[in-house]
Amino acid sequence: MTPQMERINPWQMVLAQIDKAEKHLHCDPNIIEKLKHAERALLVAVPVRMDDGKVKVFKGFRVQHSTVRGPSKGGIRFHPDVDLDEVTALAAWMTWKCAVMNIPFGGAKGGVQCEPKGLSLGELERLTRRYTSEILHFIGPDRDIPAPDVNTNEQIMAWMMDTYSMQVGHSVPGVVTGKPIAIGGSEGRSEATGRGVVYMIIEAAKKLEINLSGCTAAVQGFGNVGVSTAKNLYLEGVKIVAVSNVQGGVYSAKGIDPLALEDHIKTTGSIVGFPGCDAIGNEELLALDCDILVPAALENVIHKGNAHQIKARILAEGANGPVTPIADEILREKNVFMIPDILANAGGVTVSYFEWVQDLQNYFWNEAEINNRLRQLMVVAFKKVMAIADEHQVDNRTAAQILGIGRVVEAVRLRGLYP
Ligand code: GLU
Repeated sequence: MTPQMERINPWQMVLAQIDKAEKHLHCDPNIIEKLKHAERALLVAVPVRMDDGKVKVFKGFRVQHSTVRGPSKGGIRFHPDVDLDEVTALAAWMTWKCAVMNIPFGGAKGGVQCEPKGLSLGELERLTRRYTSEILHFIGPDRDIPAPDVNTNEQIMAWMMDTYSMQVGHSVPGVVTGKPIAIGGSEGRSEATGRGVVYMIIEAAKKLEINLSGCTAAVQGFGNVGVSTAKNLYLEGVKIVAVSNVQGGVYSAKGIDPLALEDHIKTTGSIVGFPGCDAIGNEELLALDCDILVPAALENVIHKGNAHQIKARILAEGANGPVTPIADEILREKNVFMIPDILANAGGVTVSYFEWVQDLQNYFWNEAEINNRLRQLMVVAFKKVMAIADEHQVDNRTAAQILGIGRVVEAVRLRGLYP
């Protein structure tokens, strides 16, 4: 998906963002230097017996960017484009994201370079279990806690939890989050990211004095984040005019019912051909004349080649890093209200935090309680980011980074340098 004209190295993007935030933080440059390096990175070989009897070796990664504010936290992605720079950048964004939400975690990310669609269920399980056993001593409920990300789900988290538990000899539900409820998962976790995206869109609409009911939205990506975002927007009275995924997209000026679309995907296996809709391409979707745009797929989908075409008033980053730095500038000039990833999609890791807390205390809360707590934390973070944007006269992304990086800087300062 990387745009041809703008070669983006995500880790370079992180470094540039740190430099930008530093100008407003006026802190010890030695602390900033520390944050420009991930604490630990593990590269593992993951040999898997394939169904045809051959052994295939996959590359696996787990990077812990920071453990200064608490154990590191972040998802595991299974994707052909996974590499060390991408995982390291995503780990740093997790550090800022947890700090923006003020939850007691640092940041990590992991992944396996693979195309999971090409794997049978058995191969996927063997890959997950071997990867988990290779990173076993790196992770743990007090150390580093994985979760779902692109192409990983509850079942994969269950296999990871089981593999870890079998190795240490007792059940350790708190080693991963995003698990099925039956084995220590949390109510509300599977919908948390999309629900959080919508809480942030509601706050943005209030700030811009826009009435959400009757607004139109386009959602790119119909995985965990896209589906729950579309459903929750629909509940707020927003008309979903277009949805797309890797297979293609659907458009209807009259609006799409996301629940019916989900059923259609379950029965036909594809988003395409949903009754009452026209086909639409991913690029066309991004350029639609709509009020709200939610890129909820992968990085760098909005770049200098297509940013000029964006017409939405509010852009909420459901995915991590969907807008390139040059596109960011273009959108700012166009006065698009940006809700940056480390705020917009922080609902997922926030309910992961609730799941971890519930696992550690062996006491579980109901969904209403989870959703209320999630909303409270996200609204506080939104207001804080807006106040920083006003005070420093910066865009929302820079404001969120000033908040997140600033909190990590303070923690590093207080802890000092070991030894
Ligand atoms: N993968 C999600 C994210 O990027 C969730 C991480 C987590 O719950 O730890 O925020």
